Amino acid sequence: VARILVVEDDEPIGRLLESGLRANGYEVEWERTAAGALHQAAGPGFDLVMLDLGLPDLDGVVLSRELRVALPATVIVMLTARRDEMDVVAGLESGADDYLTKPFGMVELLARVRAHLRRNSPVDDRSAPARIGSLRVDLAARSCWVGDVEVTLRTKEFDLLARLAREPGTALTRELLMSDVWDENWFGSTKTLDVHIAALRRKLAAAAAAGGCAEPTITTLRGHGYRLEAS
Ligand code: CA
Repeated sequence: VARILVVEDDEPIGRLLESGLRANGYEVEWERTAAGALHQAAGPGFDLVMLDLGLPDLDGVVLSRELRVALPATVIVMLTARRDEMDVVAGLESGADDYLTKPFGMVELLARVRAHLRRNSPVDDRSAPARIGSLRVDLAARSCWVGDVEVTLRTKEFDLLARLAREPGTALTRELLMSDVWDENWFGSTKTLDVHIAALRRKLAAAAAAGGCAEPTITTLRGHGYRLEAS
């Protein structure tokens, strides 16, 4: 049974999340403050955290960063009433994996939770490691190397890179990447994709610099998508 931590100070929304998730078979802990969330994070692990960005005792982005450190393997989904895209980007860069804008429907939320908790990777993990220039992506071990330097990637960063590496040199559309890596019925903003691409580029460049080898390149195709360069 997947364990979900709900961090939400709004009583009606918190109650809705708690009952909705429990009704769908999830084990749920509900905390109303950042202090409570950090206390929970020190205990037995969680598979997913639903994190309201507007909490009374700590900025949600700061809390997201602390939860990312305390729960490195846990999926963090931010809940935000803020329409400002900069806030969403700050949240995603702080370590969150995804976000939902309030008001959201329970059907959409449950679809998103299921997509994140799906255990099977969207790519065939029995295949041999993919080698693209200095880059090596090992699906079975879920590890990624640039030259001799191992790159530490978060779950969705790895899934995204693995998807790109399956067809190096091929232009992949935003829609295809979103549906293969995140959710088959994705709707809404694809900002999440851009933030994950930016993180991948940063990490791959840092590893290439550390190992003194050529840097794997992910090219942006304006209005279309992305391509991992075959070198
Ligand atoms: Ca709130």
